[in-house]
Amino acid sequence: MMDTDEGFKNTVTVIGGGIAGLSSAVFLAERGFKVTLYEASPKLGGRAYSFVDNTIGAVLDNGQHILASWYENTFDYLKIIGSFDKLSFQNQLEVNFADQNGMIYRFKCPKLPPPLHLLAGIMKFKALGSKDKLALIRLVRFIKNKKLTRDKLSELNTDKLFSMTGQTERLIENFWKPFIVAVFNASPDNTSALLFADMIRKGFLEKGGSNLVLPNDNLTDIFVKPAEEFLKSKNCEVIFKKRIAKIIIEGNIITSLLDEDNREIKSSFYISAVPFFEFEKLFVNELYHGGLETSPIVNIHLKFDKDIDEIFSERFVGLLGSEVQWAFKVKSDQLCLVISAARKIAEMSKEQIIDLAVNELHYAFPRLKSAKITGSRVIKEMKATFIPNSHSISARPISKTVIKNLFIAGDWADTGLPATIEGAIKSSKTCVNELLKSI
Ligand SMILES: Cc1cc2nc3c(=O)[nH]c(=O)nc-3n(C[C@H](O)[C@H](O)[C@H](O)COP(=O)(O)OP(=O)(O)OC[C@H]3O[C@@H](n4cnc5c(N)ncnc54)[C@H](O)[C@@H]3O)c2cc1C
Repeated sequence: MMDTDEGFKNTVTVIGGGIAGLSSAVFLAERGFKVTLYEASPKLGGRAYSFVDNTIGAVLDNGQHILASWYENTFDYLKIIGSFDKLSFQNQLEVNFADQNGMIYRFKCPKLPPPLHLLAGIMKFKALGSKDKLALIRLVRFIKNKKLTRDKLSELNTDKLFSMTGQTERLIENFWKPFIVAVFNASPDNTSALLFADMIRKGFLEKGGSNLVLPNDNLTDIFVKPAEEFLKSKNCEVIFKKRIAKIIIEGNIITSLLDEDNREIKSSFYISAVPFFEFEKLFVNELYHGGLETSPIVNIHLKFDKDIDEIFSERFVGLLGSEVQWAFKVKSDQLCLVISAARKIAEMSKEQIIDLAVNELHYAFPRLKSAKITGSRVIKEMKATFIPNSHSISARPISKTVIKNLFIAGDWADTGLPATIEGAIKSSKTCVNELLKSI
């Protein structure tokens, strides 16, 4: 135990109130720790939040979030704070795609043990021809049979893996790219082959892995508000608009923090749950050597003058051959369009982005032209995720640090997962386990 004073020994300061900070605080509060969480901004949730938008006249999420049935740490967190039942689980993996000629392609994996479900789904997927399907099977077998060591995979990006296994252009465009940009927010040449292979194993080769899970409520009401209430019920404190500005370290121990008003904050343990670009301002030492870069996501919310259920009957659709990769139906008269790995698009004006997105939506769903757009909102998240390329593998720090009472949480910590809600929550669970071990 770091401190012998009974009243002090169970105190933890969490820096940052995103999903990693909130889940660290919740897991610790559940174990009886006295947690104080400091958040620099006036709101919790970090990169996953909701807000009232007056142009659309609704609560909007900053970005459409989608989960998967392998998000086990996320489900644990949601069960503790009481919002697990606000998720909607697919019974079987089903994703529909529309091309720019208005053709719809269904990718539906029947309830069979993996990888048979994937094989059966692929066989019926009309956006691919037989050569493409054979190439896909070749890649999955290559990964399943561990044809390359983890060390070798960690040196490569996914585009190299594609050329090594003869992936066809159509397969990459109509299957791998939509999958990769959705999961990694990066193109194949910027996605680590190791992370990709691990996601294929988790998503397609493990039982029950690949089904998608959609939130049934807004992000704040699922992930944030219930956590804040849980922390209050455990006598933990959340302090808003207080940026932690300095860390005081003596030897291998943090002795205190200073907030932006130079007020001293002391506890036994500290969890950093800030993104890497904030972390490097706070910890000017050997804990993180740099090497991570950010990738933007652009979301376009559209409100129509009428219900569009009859024209756009799915909950979400992948758009093939389009700059807009995904369209989600948020309400009967509301869509959210997603552009990932959006470095170039994010430089365009909001009006240009809306024009481009609506045009491509109309190519895929020509009948949508009959519905007038009455409100729109573009959200550019410039630092949405880190780029998960082969360089990122060695740049990500583990949660346990050389500073005995400091642990690192956040989607960028070394979890073996891409920057996701599950990554953020897995990292906070690791922090809590390491903290408990250190006592
Ligand atoms: C548009 C978009 C779409 C996404 N889609 C998905 C998806 O479909 N599925 C999925 O799983 N994930 C998705 N993600 C990723 C997911 O949202 C993130 O991985 C996750 O929210 C990161 O949480 P975090 O707590 O690690 O970091 P953050 O959310 O960045 O939280 C860090 C917090 O620390 C605070 N802070 C920073 N510096 C300080 C300081 N000095 N003192 C005090 N506080 C500080 C910040 O204000 C912030 O609140 C998406 C992200 C975006 C932006």
